[in-house]
Amino acid sequence: MNKLIYLDNASSTPCDQRIIKGILLFFSKNYANPSNITNTLGIDANTAISLARNKVAKLFNCLPQNIIWTSGATESNNIALQGVFKKYKKLNQKSKYHIITSSIEHKSVLETLKSLQDVDISFIKPDSDGITHLKDIENCINENTFLISIMMANNELGVLNDIEVIGKICQKRNILFHSDATQAIGKLPIDLNKLNIDLLSFSGHKIYAPKGVGALYIKDPSIISPLYYGGGQEWGYRPGTLNVPGIVGLGIACEIFQSDQNTESLKIRNLRDIFESEIVKLNKNIIINRVKAQRVSNISNVSFPIKKGISIINNINLIACSSGSACDTLDHIPSHVLTEIGKSILEAKNTIRFSLGRFTKIEDIKNAIEYIKEILKIY
Ligand code: PMP
Repeated sequence: MNKLIYLDNASSTPCDQRIIKGILLFFSKNYANPSNITNTLGIDANTAISLARNKVAKLFNCLPQNIIWTSGATESNNIALQGVFKKYKKLNQKSKYHIITSSIEHKSVLETLKSLQDVDISFIKPDSDGITHLKDIENCINENTFLISIMMANNELGVLNDIEVIGKICQKRNILFHSDATQAIGKLPIDLNKLNIDLLSFSGHKIYAPKGVGALYIKDPSIISPLYYGGGQEWGYRPGTLNVPGIVGLGIACEIFQSDQNTESLKIRNLRDIFESEIVKLNKNIIINRVKAQRVSNISNVSFPIKKGISIINNINLIACSSGSACDTLDHIPSHVLTEIGKSILEAKNTIRFSLGRFTKIEDIKNAIEYIKEILKIY
């Protein structure tokens, strides 16, 4: 076997051909700035942006004007968390402010929160499944708590938090609720009309749209102050010339999910189940992490037996997969998610996230298992 098997869809997905087809026009024939509607090209680009916004809003059952375009979930998380704090601080002069989050959020949430001044932050440790418990959240709330940020699905384990109930707690206690839905979008239905979520972040490249585009849902724009200043695009919350091809692509990605959602998730889940049932047969010390917890259909987090302190990821060259999140891999540090749920550094270094996607085939799964079997013989 010498062809790379792509099992890293939670890091990034290939762009869907239907999306590529739909966006090419905006690189070539229609290159106009959508903010300039004094010419027909600009009007067409502007219309394409509105259509894309409608498609995203339809998937989430929210109003199009509640969606703002960003460069991805990192920026969405920053605009949401910093923007809410900036506004809240302006309206409420206090000596202390308090935010609740979990210790296994993505770094774009954790580091953004850590950068805020004059804020106490409770980083709730999840249980060993990676779930943040409602009781722990409730116990942390105090009179200064104004914001809770809990991710919908964890990017390494795929486990799901009870966002519906967390939303209810926030509503009851008059606390704003932000959720990072980057790994949940396209994997499960998200009805923003039913969930009490004030701010929701996601990226396009996890759902077959191009990289460098994402969005932030803001239920009530009066809760945030802008972080950037410029030309006033996106109602002033994210000024700058819009990434028309990316945005059109994100719109098409949401439209595809709207029609395919259930069948696609089921297909991916079946392949994931085959992968997991086969991989544990290779060695009795292989563990599938959080197998019983509620999780998204595409992620399989596998711990391999520890040998000589070597990290197995360095030997698996013909499967694209991740050890920790892509950002942690760059830093060569063990995943904070795995250490927080109780894995040792060595265990974390020998744990791999395999993530399937729309284009994963049964042959990929069979070949991956054969390849891992060979690696385990020499490793
Ligand atoms: N949140 C989560 C849960 C993620 O998985 C990621 C991507 N790894 C991000 C935020 C950041 O997304 P992006 O790099 O597209 O900004």
